[in-house]
Amino acid sequence: MSQPVSSSTADSSPSGIPEAPTLPGWEHRSSGKVRDVYAPADVGPWAGHDVLLVVASDRLSAYDYILSPPVPDKGKILTALSVWWLEQLSDVVPNHLVSLEVPAQVCGRAMICRRLEMYPVECVARGYLTGSGLVEYRESRSVCGVPLPEGLMEASRLPGAIFTPAAKAGLGEHDENVSFERVVQMVGPHAAAQLREITLELYTRAARVAAQRGIILADTKFEFGAGASGEPVLGDEVLTPDSSRFWAADQWAPGRVTPSFDKQYVRDWLTSPDSGWDRSSGARPPALPAEVVQRTRERYLEAYERLTGRPLAL
Ligand code: ATP
Ligand code: MG
Repeated sequence: MSQPVSSSTADSSPSGIPEAPTLPGWEHRSSGKVRDVYAPADVGPWAGHDVLLVVASDRLSAYDYILSPPVPDKGKILTALSVWWLEQLSDVVPNHLVSLEVPAQVCGRAMICRRLEMYPVECVARGYLTGSGLVEYRESRSVCGVPLPEGLMEASRLPGAIFTPAAKAGLGEHDENVSFERVVQMVGPHAAAQLREITLELYTRAARVAAQRGIILADTKFEFGAGASGEPVLGDEVLTPDSSRFWAADQWAPGRVTPSFDKQYVRDWLTSPDSGWDRSSGARPPALPAEVVQRTRERYLEAYERLTGRPLAL
């Protein structure tokens, strides 16, 4: 969900999110840190249909800032990866993808999706302990109310994947980890049980695919909406580096932070003396050097190619 973003360059809005492109047949509705969402205009091929156009931009965020310049093709790479996963997982749960025939201006980076009434729950599955999960574990030896064995550390593999939901926060706020009981209160016992079961099944399937390619799926987040007869439908982006932690298996060792597959060059550069940026200062980060942008782009492409086992025509 939306988190605070700092003001960017002079030509962007105070939120740091540049104005979304104008697209024929579509009306811009909202923008997150990465994606722009449109509804059908009154006139156009999708007029009157209950769909949305979701456009993935090339924006890259790290440490809650939208960085500049953007990473060329990132939105295309992430869209292609999401579409590939949706195909792989279509027998587990129905999904929102309707068409990839989108306006030429956003070709390859946009999906026409069934508009869903989204459950206000980020459905997170974790197979490894890190991030907010590790923080909670250190306080309570549990994550989102799921008890865990003693002696786990940063990047430990969990005995089995766990469902660690978060309540979607309002604009400018962080999502909050919640217990399963809280999800039951939010969406009812039947839907809560379905969301947990589907989330864990999707995670298990995807982690197996990734493992075959030398990639650990440490954790991931899904979002679902209710279909016509109330059944869960998978929405949003799926198993992209923006919604998941992918680790190179040969870089993983329990007890230390595993570099994230995609953003590590950016994070390393930002926190190195070279950038001149002090994270605690509250100042927005400086522009990324061309080499960091280039290497980050290569990492996103590599993630796509390793996971899918095929090159991406851009
Ligand atoms: P941010 O990425 O800045 O944290 P965000 O996650 O709210 O914010 P995006 O991911 O950029 O924003 O935008 C996608 C939005 O569209 C999300 O709010 C998501 O829940 C919603 N969404 C995704 N798929 C569908 C769908 N099929 N129907 C309705 N809403 C959807
Ligand atoms: Mg999002």
